[in-house]
Amino acid sequence: MATADVIVIGGGLHGCSTALHLALLGIKTIIIEKDHVGRHASGVNAGGVRRLGRALPEIPLAEAALTGWQNINDLVDDDCGFVSPGQIKVAETEAELEALTARRETLLGLGFAHEEIIDRNQLRHLLPAIADHCIGGMVVRGDGHANPFRTVQAFKRKAVALGVRIFETTPVGGIQRRGSTWRVGAFEAPVIVNCTGAWGGQVAAMRPAVAMVHWQGRFWPKPSGKITASSMSWNHWILRHTPTRPRNAPILPLARVTLGERRPVSSP
Ligand SMILES: Cc1cc2nc3c(=O)[nH]c(=O)nc-3n(C[C@H](O)[C@H](O)[C@H](O)COP(=O)(O)OP(=O)(O)OC[C@H]3O[C@@H](n4cnc5c(N)ncnc54)[C@H](O)[C@@H]3O)c2cc1C
Repeated sequence: MATADVIVIGGGLHGCSTALHLALLGIKTIIIEKDHVGRHASGVNAGGVRRLGRALPEIPLAEAALTGWQNINDLVDDDCGFVSPGQIKVAETEAELEALTARRETLLGLGFAHEEIIDRNQLRHLLPAIADHCIGGMVVRGDGHANPFRTVQAFKRKAVALGVRIFETTPVGGIQRRGSTWRVGAFEAPVIVNCTGAWGGQVAAMRPAVAMVHWQGRFWPKPSGKITASSMSWNHWILRHTPTRPRNAPILPLARVTLGERRPVSSP
């Protein structure tokens, strides 16, 4: 029976980060992962690090997170592939540009000035190959992207260096209460943290009477067609969704491809 102060179930970014921060506090921690660390959402997401277009309540958190990313090397001894060339939301119509402008006004009223409106010429300066019908947009300079798989591996490495033990290919199938501790397979600890992302509900349901931390997994929509009429040279800027279309974000340096919805784009 392996014992610890805390058992973290799930070896994604949340699990590794939780374990790392516990280890920094001197708390003996075990991670139990059913597959391999970073195998799921944490290793393969779009890698976006942004304040652009955030829901209003998220903005202070996104700003704090950006500071964290700028100093990520101090935490995990790796820059995680983080670069901050900026992110752009393109307006294809006057109505979209008006919506972006209204949004900027709202943000300014709340004291946030990071979202900036750009006109047709500025857009072309940043994205020279943008389709002709695009008339402007919104940029956030300093937003960027990181390499998700590298990030989660860096968190894992640093956690292990600080004494965290990780058990991979070890699915948790049940959780039992034993006196003042929890037993999870061959592991025992007084505290469990559920970091199983999209499986969070399943793991929480193993002990429905017990409140556990439950991270909600998030997913991108399926990849589909191009958002603009011409192919793009991205110039390292990241194009995000336009105001009236679903999310479409291309970020991984391995494949600078734009993902968009399946609606055909009309000619200007
Ligand atoms: C740089 C970066 C950029 C990001 N950008 C985006 C983005 O642009 N868009 C976006 O939507 N999200 C983005 N995200 C967020 C990301 O996609 C997910 O929301 C996040 O990785 C979820 O992390 P997690 O640890 O909760 O889940 P996961 O990575 O899914 O980890 C959960 C782990 O739990 C394990 N597990 C499940 N059940 C069990 C069990 N019974 N026993 C043991 N283990 C179990 C799974 O195998 C899995 O490995 C980004 C993340 C990063 C790091």
